[in-house]
Amino acid sequence: MDSKLKDKRLIDYLLPVLVWGLVFYSTWAFSHKLCYNQIYKNFKHESIAIGLICIICILDITLIIIWIQLIWIYGPGRQPKIPPFILIDNGIRNNFGSIEPTATASIPPPVFYECDINGYPIWCDTCKSLKIGRTHHSKRLGYCIPRFDHHCMWVGTVIGKSNYLLFTQFVFYFSCLLLIFWISIVSYIKRIVDYPHTGYKLDPNLIVILILSVPFSIMTLSLFLSHVYFTFMNRTSLEIINIKRNKKLNIKKFVCYLDKTSGNRYVIEMSPEDMANIWKKRSIWENFKEVLGNNFLFWFIPFDIRKRQVKQNNDPECIQSLDYILGFYNEAIGEDAKLLIEQKIINSNYLKTFRAFGDQYH
Ligand SMILES: [Zn+2]
Repeated sequence: MDSKLKDKRLIDYLLPVLVWGLVFYSTWAFSHKLCYNQIYKNFKHESIAIGLICIICILDITLIIIWIQLIWIYGPGRQPKIPPFILIDNGIRNNFGSIEPTATASIPPPVFYECDINGYPIWCDTCKSLKIGRTHHSKRLGYCIPRFDHHCMWVGTVIGKSNYLLFTQFVFYFSCLLLIFWISIVSYIKRIVDYPHTGYKLDPNLIVILILSVPFSIMTLSLFLSHVYFTFMNRTSLEIINIKRNKKLNIKKFVCYLDKTSGNRYVIEMSPEDMANIWKKRSIWENFKEVLGNNFLFWFIPFDIRKRQVKQNNDPECIQSLDYILGFYNEAIGEDAKLLIEQKIINSNYLKTFRAFGDQYH
């Protein structure tokens, strides 16, 4: 990693350090100044005080566990290097005149891929790899991130396919923590100022927590709800921004699609509206499962144990498929997007058609 990238990574941790500082300060002030001094000692609501302290500590530990996985254990993920697709006859002819494709250097093109106006797939110059749909090259990290969502300065990392579930959980549990802070203070505020031994004053530390937690809880809760909506729509934050920008600037995208019955490939122009729902599956449940994982229970447990390893096959004789190389990072278009593309082909609404040499390996 070069020094510029290293510097960037150090700056990335400044805001998270501040966030954690505030969380630990608030936990101390809330437990000591509100739960112990007021609720436990003054009002003798022992079980409420102990219950609140326990919930806050559990939430703090949950957030730390999620954050460690989010930042260090998994990170946003890294798209495996994808060799060029076999679009033209680039094979080596053996003694019998038949063609043996150079398996280590190229792979059969998938049925669907995003391309340029000529049907060539998108290439990342820095990673020297093809980029599949939803992948975005992060300058900050220096490599391609599958299903890139955004860079979150509060947690200090890029959010991608690998840590998206953890990020959503982090935002959810953080909103819960902030809500508990201010709702508890507000519920006791009248009793505290009416209580003669407090001098009719709320402890200044509790006023600080109240001022901080109200706006931040609104912020995190709306962030959580928007990510639930993005999951429902199977869209990333970056895709939402791009759709808006492309609509405004009228930027078209192109996709290449293999019609399996004729064996022809078609290059199709896609409007921003067409691209908006390209990854969305028909069933809501499918969208949630695709983004958050198959096991419903694990959506709430702060351990993301999904396997992310990319399968490695170093056998040069074996023609690897894109699905095989990508493993966990594989992406599939939705049923409706497929129908839309097929309808465009039927209506001759395509830019060009060709036969890809590698399609014989499907
Ligand atoms: Zn890249």
